[in-house]
Amino acid sequence: MRAEAPDLLIVGGGPAGLATAIEARLAGLEATVIERRRPPVDVACGEGLMPGGAARLRELGVRIPGSEAGVFHGVRYVDGDLAAEARFTVGRGLGVRRTVLHRALVVRGEELGVDFRWGTTVRAIDGAAVETDRGRFAGRFIVAADGRLSRLREMAGIATSIPARKRFGVRRHYQLAPWAGTVEVFWADEGEAYVTPVGSGMIGVALLSRVRPLDFDRELRHFPELARRLDGAPVVSRDRGAGPFGHRPEAIVRDRLALIGDASGSLDPITGEGVSVALSQAAALVRAISRGALADYAADHRRIMRLPRRLTDLLLIAEHRPRLRRLTIRTFAAFPGLFSRLVDIVGRSGAAADRSPR
Ligand SMILES: Cc1cc2nc3c(=O)[nH]c(=O)nc-3n(C[C@H](O)[C@H](O)[C@H](O)COP(=O)(O)OP(=O)(O)OC[C@H]3O[C@@H](n4cnc5c(N)ncnc54)[C@H](O)[C@@H]3O)c2cc1C
Repeated sequence: MRAEAPDLLIVGGGPAGLATAIEARLAGLEATVIERRRPPVDVACGEGLMPGGAARLRELGVRIPGSEAGVFHGVRYVDGDLAAEARFTVGRGLGVRRTVLHRALVVRGEELGVDFRWGTTVRAIDGAAVETDRGRFAGRFIVAADGRLSRLREMAGIATSIPARKRFGVRRHYQLAPWAGTVEVFWADEGEAYVTPVGSGMIGVALLSRVRPLDFDRELRHFPELARRLDGAPVVSRDRGAGPFGHRPEAIVRDRLALIGDASGSLDPITGEGVSVALSQAAALVRAISRGALADYAADHRRIMRLPRRLTDLLLIAEHRPRLRRLTIRTFAAFPGLFSRLVDIVGRSGAAADRSPR
């Protein structure tokens, strides 16, 4: 245990926890990150960062080598013979493998003097301290950045709801040159597949469905056009799955504990905003702690989540209604300005909270 408790004791070294630690150090606060795994941490993810999120990473000084990232300029929806495409009017998105993103965040954290405790698992929370398999750690504030199934949230007695209609995701990487300058979302009655360029002539494919357990090859059959494109391309990663999504905790702040990232409420990956939203939350949380007004974070958090949640809910309504879904794509194709506006709103996700759209 350190001689002095840091300002922020962050449990979970995923993008939310690491961004919070970086924000804290830039604000002159001490930060310790406790993470049960060792870097670089890989998880199931579509790996698309919205332009707002990509810009925020640059502002934080997180450097992702151009050779290790793909660039995308918008979103393309495909449903059988229908397609609609919209480009971001500001900035560009970044496709980046989670291992690459993790490494870049850790390097920046190390430069700034974050105290990292890798391979350390939190087992219990006791006020402003946690018990781990490597001893007890205390902090002025505890930050639960331990993901969708947050144990800290549960141990703090924060009740969490989850939608009855559960969805699951699985991802795989192919060594295949990206063929579109966009993230491409293929829709089918059984779910969606989305393709993200992630650099070095590689693409990531994430499949979302209501079926569990998700089997990549079985689900891929629902997207014949995509399956044809992928046929014969070398698979370069192990399949990783996750789900369900859509957790909503009843509180974001309790006493000296604050929830962030997926622990503070997970989004269905349908809009690909999870990491970008976590970056906005990290900025808001550190600002609130610096001001000595943790309650401000709860209000900012509500504001940051409002739009992504509404958009996700809307898309999920269309997701399991084939006629509505196809009508949506037809409408987007007929009114590209409308689609473009929506894509721009999603694209702003990740901007520091005070600059995110109200
Ligand atoms: C299929 C799929 C596709 C997605 N696509 C996208 C996308 O395209 N774009 C996007 O922005 N987002 C996407 N997301 C969402 C994104 O992956 C999440 O929002 C993001 O990972 C949340 O980051 P986090 O740091 O909150 O949680 P996590 O990344 O889950 O990190 C939590 C960390 O906490 C650690 N931890 C947990 N418990 C403990 C403990 N007791 N002690 C110590 N450490 C602990 C874990 O090991 C983990 O490293 C997708 C998700 C899925 C499943």
